[in-house]
Amino acid sequence: MREIFNINSNNRIRNQIFRLIFDKKQISKQEIAAQLNLSLPTVSQYLQSLKDDGLIDYSGTFESTGGRKAKIIQCVENAFFALGLDITRNHLSLVLINMRGNICFSNRIKLTFQNNAEYFSAVGVTIDRFIADHQIDCNKVLGVSLTLPAIIASDRKTVTYATVIDTDASFYRKIGPYIKFPFKIYNDANAAAFAEYWVHNEIETMAYISLSNSVGGSFILDGRQYTGYNERAGEFGHMTIIPEGETCYCGKKGCVDAYCCAKVLYDHADGSLSNFFEAVKNKDPECTKVFSEYLNHLSLAINSLRMIFDCDIVMGGYVGPYLLDYMDDIKAIVAPRNTFENNADYIKPCKFTFEASAVGGAMYYLTEFMHHI
Ligand SMILES: [Zn+2]
Repeated sequence: MREIFNINSNNRIRNQIFRLIFDKKQISKQEIAAQLNLSLPTVSQYLQSLKDDGLIDYSGTFESTGGRKAKIIQCVENAFFALGLDITRNHLSLVLINMRGNICFSNRIKLTFQNNAEYFSAVGVTIDRFIADHQIDCNKVLGVSLTLPAIIASDRKTVTYATVIDTDASFYRKIGPYIKFPFKIYNDANAAAFAEYWVHNEIETMAYISLSNSVGGSFILDGRQYTGYNERAGEFGHMTIIPEGETCYCGKKGCVDAYCCAKVLYDHADGSLSNFFEAVKNKDPECTKVFSEYLNHLSLAINSLRMIFDCDIVMGGYVGPYLLDYMDDIKAIVAPRNTFENNADYIKPCKFTFEASAVGGAMYYLTEFMHHI
């Protein structure tokens, strides 16, 4: 697992042993002792406590290289789970991940956001049904992360700005009675970036631009998410690229969002992104022209991000996965804008093709838990 934050565990040695088992997937007691420079009795003591907590188990023996065969120690990947819930204007997505970060179950339903008890109750019922349908032991659920297209204060409870969905600072308090697990709320693009960071092992610092129904983003510096003074760092959607240009949903003119949100594309294909890209593939003149303009505007945003951050840039959101087939085209448009470089190989496609926000949200719970083992 990637080291995202400092280990806060009261027992650093226990945590180190657990991490080593987690990273190696299978390991012997002797190897743990050797790698961490600990005595065998000390390792045995911690292994017993990890086993008592249901976090590790034994599974057969390694091939002997002479002497007694060493027992295989491994993590119990389904010892605990975290649930990610992505709330959008018209849908609710649920993703359950295990301790390894693997997606165990997911579901996406149509549920139009409303800032009222009827909606909050429906969310609660959907969570309960999801947990029951998949026969998950509630005691094994660490918590629920709700990701929203909104700015969330660092307390992970207070919505400070929301336009895409009609909600306000009372969201956490109002939905609370309907959620039976510990829960926190996060910005959707920050969560998606966190998920992408998790799977891009080669990237330490990245700017993530989320191209969904709204455009957002996040900046991760040396493994830490930089959220700014007001939790608004990475709101790339509201950088001005065309002075006095198209009106953005925020009310200002010429924002990236007005040119690079998914709607700009799917409005030309009956509201379907996959239809839009199918049409582009089939060289439909209208969609091809729209896509060309879209990429031109996106190239302005990407080049600005490269100038500011000088790091890898990952394109995600609903549009991100579709751009995978056009990486060479995108690089060819972006590269000439750059003052210092003649290629744009710093642009990376996203690795999550679906539910990155929900997965990233759940991962926040998971990493916090792992640091306290
Ligand atoms: Zn704007």
